[in-house]
Amino acid sequence: MTYPFAAPASEALFDRAQQVIPGGVNSPVRAFQAVGGTPRFMASGTGPYLTDVDGREYVDLVCSWGPIILGHAHPAVVEALQQAATKGTSFGTPSAGEVELAEILVDRVAPVEQVRLVNSGTEATMSAIRLARGFTGRTKVVKFAGCYHGHVDALLASAGSGIVTLGLPDTPGVTGATTADTIVLPYNDLDAVTLAFEESGDQIAVVITEAAAANMGVVPPLPGFNAGLKALCEQYGALLVLDEVMTGFRVSRAGHFGLEGVVPDLFTFGKVMGGGLPAAAFGGRADVMARLAPKGPVYQAGTLSGNPLAVAAGRATLEHCTDEVYAHLDQTAATVARLASEALSEAGVAHRVNHAGSLFSVFFADHAVVDYATASRQEVSRYKAFFHEMLARGVYLPPSAYESWFVSAAHDSAAIDRVAEALPHAARAAAAVRAPELVAPPTADDRA
Ligand SMILES: *Cc1c(COP(=O)(O)O)cnc(C)c1O
Repeated sequence: MTYPFAAPASEALFDRAQQVIPGGVNSPVRAFQAVGGTPRFMASGTGPYLTDVDGREYVDLVCSWGPIILGHAHPAVVEALQQAATKGTSFGTPSAGEVELAEILVDRVAPVEQVRLVNSGTEATMSAIRLARGFTGRTKVVKFAGCYHGHVDALLASAGSGIVTLGLPDTPGVTGATTADTIVLPYNDLDAVTLAFEESGDQIAVVITEAAAANMGVVPPLPGFNAGLKALCEQYGALLVLDEVMTGFRVSRAGHFGLEGVVPDLFTFGKVMGGGLPAAAFGGRADVMARLAPKGPVYQAGTLSGNPLAVAAGRATLEHCTDEVYAHLDQTAATVARLASEALSEAGVAHRVNHAGSLFSVFFADHAVVDYATASRQEVSRYKAFFHEMLARGVYLPPSAYESWFVSAAHDSAAIDRVAEALPHAARAAAAVRAPELVAPPTADDRA
């Protein structure tokens, strides 16, 4: 495949980057390996648009994988950051902003009585798992194939996101001893969970699941799935962790909890709550959180946790995430999804669109997608052609068929019009692909 639009400045930076950064990127999906071509190095963002180092502008349908819910460089967030920065960037002591951000989280998500702030979603899930093991005195963790919880060793068994993109079922460097206590089950399969509890219920410390899976493409929980997990955990004395790092404060004021109302023992948050800076959290039942150091014996810490800049950006972002913003996100997501689906139907391309609130993704497949097995049977090469045509026409989609699409409060009719103009061309490019690959095969290059 050749790509019609050259990106010389991105190419030059990518060459330099590869000399000093493995694969030229600091997070694998950014390298474009799943779609081919040169990753675009972005120079700036404003509202719904990104501008790359070659000066080309794109409607951004990735939004930094979720955090940029108000659009890029939102004036209130920029202002909050400027003010915070003049007062010092880190103190290594408690500060008022941390308390205020924690109060906002506790206020928005009713079952969260206490939270601990951390720096990334990975830290949040890692710490939640440790706490759950410490609280229950048990060892085993249940997770679901295709659910991604960050790059926590014990959870990198059949994870989604980057792992699916690279076609690796697991990663070197994580030992068998580490994953020996991880039970990986098919998503949306309560019978499998019931069986696992019947076999090892007295050893299962915790079940962790994405509140709605969105890292194998968007795969919402079937009705009763999350509630069924909750019931099984209660029956067997295990804890339930709902990972809302992606859905939290994005799909509603109170995240997926606000849509579904299933009460876990612990939540994990990230992405939106940092407003584009590194901030994340885990929290829930006060009696469980009380086991954390310094109150309790379970150790957990962070030099930059509750960082003044990060909490300022998070507060400014959440304060502007009003009911109107969530209504706009829902409506905009529905419009973009409908336009994409119409264009693909018109071009005769088989596809399914899955939604979880305002998160959605397009599967290039002709069957219902309910778990990892069904998600991974899609015509990835059609997505590649679709992606590059959209890119050439000024729309930045996730550079992988296995990721959610994201909109922001700043995506207005002008931005949506640009997406609408590009879609029929991209749909025809997808239709023109001959002998599509069903699953992206892992290649030596991917592993290199
Ligand atoms: C992004 C994500 C994580 C990891 O967060 P990082 O900040 O990238 O470490 C964990 N869980 C879910 C559901 C995510 O989407």
